[in-house]
Amino acid sequence: MELLFEVSEQVFITLWHVLPWLAGLGVAFALLSRLSPCNKGRPWWHKRGLYTDLFYWIFASLFMRYMRIWVTVLFTMWIFHIVDGQRIADFYLHGHGPVAAVPLWLQAVLYLVIADFLLYWSHRIFHRGFLWKYHAIHHASRDVEWISAARFHPVNLALGTVAVDVTALLAGVSPDIFLFVGPFNIITSCMVHANLDWTFGPFARIFVSPVFHRWHHAMEVRDVNFASTFSLWDWMFGTYHMPEGVLPQGYGIDDTAMPEGLMPQLVYPLLQKA
Ligand SMILES: [Zn+2]
Ligand SMILES: [Zn+2]
Repeated sequence: MELLFEVSEQVFITLWHVLPWLAGLGVAFALLSRLSPCNKGRPWWHKRGLYTDLFYWIFASLFMRYMRIWVTVLFTMWIFHIVDGQRIADFYLHGHGPVAAVPLWLQAVLYLVIADFLLYWSHRIFHRGFLWKYHAIHHASRDVEWISAARFHPVNLALGTVAVDVTALLAGVSPDIFLFVGPFNIITSCMVHANLDWTFGPFARIFVSPVFHRWHHAMEVRDVNFASTFSLWDWMFGTYHMPEGVLPQGYGIDDTAMPEGLMPQLVYPLLQKA
């Protein structure tokens, strides 16, 4: 009973934080997608799998918060031999070691570049072998919209964003950078999934645009455009795909057995053979 109360409380707190974001982003992308859509058709609130997307926002936010804290605490006990809760909190308050001495803005910039490089490779690995079945959930959206940005299996989150963030904290990066990096990541990941025809013109080979990431979700091509923020990585490592004057049309995966809904999707990869 107490556990149920605790979980409900955490879900409520998460909703309290997430809902204003969803409301703001929902209005912004409704207007922008109306002005310059990539694909004509339904508005985002009529997309297929809308409720699945919504539940992922709550689930992924909760999961990542706890996972980040617990993995960081475990590694702190192991590497730095600090076991007291308050001492661990103080140790990370504004970062530690030589990295914390670097100006905050530079820490934020370095984090964005290095984390994006690591996430590029993590993403590439998730497109292969047994890991694909966990990542396929992100690709299962048939209507790619800003709200699809949170659709990730916990295995994908743990070996992607969470692993990178924990590594940064262990290296000494100040958690203060997340006051800027957090909102930046939410806005950019929603923007690249939004139904927009933006290509970023001359900057297409540097920054990930909505069209660039929609090609990553397109049915007609596979294993291109893996970067999250800097398309530079794809350009450097030969996975860049931005055909001139063409826009991606159909999205999704071949697997017709992929279920809809949060819980069935979380279980689905576990039931499949490697
Ligand atoms: Zn992918
Ligand atoms: Zn995506």
